[in-house]
Amino acid sequence: MENSKELRTWLDNFGLDHPLVIAGPCSAETEDQLLKIAHELKETDTTVLRAGIWKPRTRPGNFEGVGALGLKWLQKAKAETGLLTATEVANKDHVKLALEHDIDILWIGARTTVSPFIVQEIADALEGTDKIVLVKNPVNPDLALWLGAIERLYTANIKNLGVIHRGFSTYEKTRYRNNPNWQIPIELQNRFPDLPLICDPSHIAGRRDIIFDICQTALDLNFDGLMIETHYDPDNAWSDAKQQITPETLKRMTVDLKIRKETDTEADYQNALATLRTQIDVIDHQLIETLGKRMQIADKIGELKKEKNVAILQTKRWNEILGKMILEGDERGLSEEFVLRIFKAIHQESINHQEKIIKS
Ligand code: PEP
Ligand code: MN
Repeated sequence: MENSKELRTWLDNFGLDHPLVIAGPCSAETEDQLLKIAHELKETDTTVLRAGIWKPRTRPGNFEGVGALGLKWLQKAKAETGLLTATEVANKDHVKLALEHDIDILWIGARTTVSPFIVQEIADALEGTDKIVLVKNPVNPDLALWLGAIERLYTANIKNLGVIHRGFSTYEKTRYRNNPNWQIPIELQNRFPDLPLICDPSHIAGRRDIIFDICQTALDLNFDGLMIETHYDPDNAWSDAKQQITPETLKRMTVDLKIRKETDTEADYQNALATLRTQIDVIDHQLIETLGKRMQIADKIGELKKEKNVAILQTKRWNEILGKMILEGDERGLSEEFVLRIFKAIHQESINHQEKIIKS
């Protein structure tokens, strides 16, 4: 797949002066629920109404969607509000039904993008379509798998494409439901700057209170749009209750979010600079997180050494680490002096941590 302006024609054709907003419930629950939400969203910046009809849940036993019946409700919502419609498709039968009901945007979910077999099945079923197809990142942090899914669709002559960043699952619990790993969508954006990139803060956050900040980071990184789960009664939603917000909150959020507009060369420069600075902020945040984790391991070593009554400073091991890091640093264009200074500081902090443990 080549990067080309053509990739974003569908988005440009919307003619929006703000990022694209896709909003709606995690799941279509009842006709009344979907219509009520659609009418409330009509009063916001929303262009596209989303609703899950078939819900792939990680564990069985949760609400698994109303099925094809919900497609009729989406059609009715579109007729009444003029909002475009979007739903998730996870196999060729879903594709057939969604096309029969003239759904405007089909998205491939995170649990589907992981499987090249199913992605190919969907690509074949959609061959040559002029519908818009959005690909969520796979649940695991694998850029090649994400790109592979987009390439399969592109090769099936589907040209109205976009991607949705919804975070990556991790074994360890973090403040996010799905870790954003911003460097992955950033890399995708560097390779395909014209491929529309949409952020789904709801599935990244898994909770309401950090959705705004995730949206702001995405916009600062030049994302083209947001997909936000929205329900008039989030606490009683049948799926993903903790992460949904009301249309009212969405409206306030879109007013409060800072959006950069490209208007002239000075604005372009400011925009490019701000995007790069946000990328730096993301990496700095990761540096601190990584250093914190390193010190937690140092604490554990401190406990072991205390038990065995062993000296903290082990010169041989330390010299080995330094030698390796200087070589690795050199491969990445970091000077020996810089690597030495950084690692001396890290080592000192490790020693301080271990001393604290041993004296406790
Ligand atoms: C969803 O959008 O409701 C959904 C199931 O998302 P994901 O595929 O990102 O988990
Ligand atoms: Mn959901």
